Amino acid sequence: MGVIKDILRTMDYGPSPESSEHVGVWLEEHKAGFGHFINGVFTKPSDLFDVFNPARGERIARVSQGSPADIDAAVAAARKAQGKWAALSGFERSKHLYALARHVQKRERFLSVLETIDNGKPIRESRDIDIPLAARHFYHHAGWASLIDSEFPGTKPVGVCGQIIPWNFPLLMLAWKIAPALAAGNTVVLKPAEFTPLTALAFAAICVETGLPPGVVNIVTGDGATGAALVADASVNKIAFTGSTEVGRTIRKATAGSGKKLSLELGGKSPFIVFEDADLDSAVEGVVDAIWFNQGQVCCAGSRLLVAEGAADALYAKLRARMANLRVGDPLDKSTDVGAIVAPVQLERIRRLMRQGEEEGLEFFRADDSVPDRGCFYPPTLVTGVDPASVLAREEIFGPVLVATTFRTPDEAVALANNTRYGLAASVWTENVNRAFEVAARIKAGVVWINSTNMFDAAAGFGGYRESGFGREGGREGLSEYRIADELKSKPNSSRAPRLNASPGVSPARNLDEGPDRTAKLYIGGKQARPDSGYSYAVLDPAGREAGLAGLGNRKDIRNAVEAAAKASSWGAATAHNRAQVLYYVAENLAARQSEFAQRLSATTGASARAARAQVDASIRRAFVYAGYADKFDGAVHATRSRFVTIAMNEPWGVMGVICPDEAPLLAFVSLVMPAIAMGNCVVAVPSSSHPLSATDFYSVLETSDVPAGVVNIVTGEANVLAKTLAEHDGVDAVWYAGDTDGAARVEALSAGNLKATWASAATIDWAKTEGREFLRRATQVKNIWTPYGE
Ligand code: ADP
Repeated sequence: MGVIKDILRTMDYGPSPESSEHVGVWLEEHKAGFGHFINGVFTKPSDLFDVFNPARGERIARVSQGSPADIDAAVAAARKAQGKWAALSGFERSKHLYALARHVQKRERFLSVLETIDNGKPIRESRDIDIPLAARHFYHHAGWASLIDSEFPGTKPVGVCGQIIPWNFPLLMLAWKIAPALAAGNTVVLKPAEFTPLTALAFAAICVETGLPPGVVNIVTGDGATGAALVADASVNKIAFTGSTEVGRTIRKATAGSGKKLSLELGGKSPFIVFEDADLDSAVEGVVDAIWFNQGQVCCAGSRLLVAEGAADALYAKLRARMANLRVGDPLDKSTDVGAIVAPVQLERIRRLMRQGEEEGLEFFRADDSVPDRGCFYPPTLVTGVDPASVLAREEIFGPVLVATTFRTPDEAVALANNTRYGLAASVWTENVNRAFEVAARIKAGVVWINSTNMFDAAAGFGGYRESGFGREGGREGLSEYRIADELKSKPNSSRAPRLNASPGVSPARNLDEGPDRTAKLYIGGKQARPDSGYSYAVLDPAGREAGLAGLGNRKDIRNAVEAAAKASSWGAATAHNRAQVLYYVAENLAARQSEFAQRLSATTGASARAARAQVDASIRRAFVYAGYADKFDGAVHATRSRFVTIAMNEPWGVMGVICPDEAPLLAFVSLVMPAIAMGNCVVAVPSSSHPLSATDFYSVLETSDVPAGVVNIVTGEANVLAKTLAEHDGVDAVWYAGDTDGAARVEALSAGNLKATWASAATIDWAKTEGREFLRRATQVKNIWTPYGE
């Protein structure tokens, strides 16, 4: 008896390796190297590079480096296949996706082992999380394939999608990209990351097995150069990218003006907030999941622990004890918690950042410094007392390193949480439900997990705020990235260039101090303001006569307007009912001055009295429509996992720049500004350069309609010049631009600075017909809040 007791006391985990035999055979079969998967067949391997098992430092495969010619061939195959794929009934597409789901599921063990060997992640994670979730994505989107036409009326597939994925969740990211694209009727060219291309190639074989039509899925392997070639390919209609913010920014610039749709899922430095009343034992398990899952190589890793001062010592003590139980080692061992870092260069990056932290005098805690001698390993590390300005608190480490700091009040917690350029995810721990939701609402992040962390599901959107990117993956919101509205694909308008001196409606600038001041001023912070330049410009009627003067706004005026808009942010927190009332009031006041506005339109644009009246009528109706929508553009509760309520909230961007076109100057202005403010944004609007006077007449409508100061700011002048300042401004969260091709391209390129969302069109839009939910969707971003229930 004594002997058994002794055994139980000293019992430790013995090795429990998963068999890698089948994967070994498969790799041996492909010893000569892997080709690309183009048009349903594998190409001859060429220009091979090595792929390593990071846990052993051994080469496991050789894979082809995709050239621009390979990308061309893959895009051509996708293009050829797209029409037919989109023309299949939803039911037929659905069957293909089900088949992919089933086959991924059937090969779960093989794919898990391959993923672990290629990436270094623990088998427990690839087996229990990555691969089952990948299958779940195909199942979920198989359903969408048959519902897409009825659920997304008035839209069509985007076309050929170029998809570039990182190495941290290779097959899962593939599923996140391919499943919705295919369900929505698109075809794809996917480039896996150079460190981890193998499960994508195994998936290509599954596509052959299930009889997916050739060209629907194409996979081209290679490094960043191959990715860049895909981004540059002129016939790709959309780029979906997941990876670093730096590369995301490069891609934003590279696609500017190309007409390509773009979604970016980028880096993060996500806060993990623990309040004093949190269940600390659960929070400790949450931390383990947040930062040591996948060795911390997770874009939404909870890498910044913010803990209430009163709970910090207790939490740190529990954490240190828990860290002593984490097992670092062979990823194929089923009892391993922390596996290998993906590649030596990533390990070196972690070490470099940690050296910088050390130079700052920070102290690291590690329960056990030892790691296997061979392979890329880094021990789980806790760094406490980290100043928010420290490099470790700011930079994404992408490794198993948790940096901790304390806070005193909930306000301070929120301020610290938002003190980052990123906004991907956040985790909030408190037993107080009111506080949990208050904090969740105030955090600027695309996903908030309450008393939980790293929850994902195909039915919920995932994606960032701010420099964590834009667009969502998963759920209904993710699917809409792969559809395009029918009516918005109209003819580009490259000829119209609303520039002073060149445009027929506008004459050279003149000094405001000359003669009596008849100038319509700017409208900033609820007040009429003289333009900083001191100049105005003459607005001409079609006969070339002066119809009035408008202020010539410059960058300084835009900056003042952005500041005023930022100050008015409580508009976003007003009830939707309140906002609706204000919008109704705007509509009513516009209606009260209908004939005055119609006369002005006739006089300045040369429109017939009837056409001018029709434009004013349409503007009034439109304001009513968005007043009506203000409290009806609901979010959703997604059907994700049991015992979770996943709330998808539509939140305003914050400050929006809105640059209006020359056509239909009043109606376009109302059509753009009203949905933006209905959703709670504050706007800096630049009206038509040629016909700004109906917008400047609008000042008095705003003033008499209880629109709070700063919610709508109007700066007249050269639209494309002002658009540039708005696109560059870091305080602007989103820009809508309607104008010419050069202007649209510039807005997209300049938005790369803070990665603001843009909606730029150079098309001639029929404003009489253009209204609806798409404007509201574009005026908001979705935040998914995951809330557990039960005890
Ligand atoms: P990470 O930091 O996660 O490695 P990267 O952004 O470097 O992220 O890589 C993510 C993906 O982007 C990989 O597939 C990589 O090959 C690809 N990539 C890298 N540079 C470029 C580029 N300039 N254009 C397109 N894709 C790129």
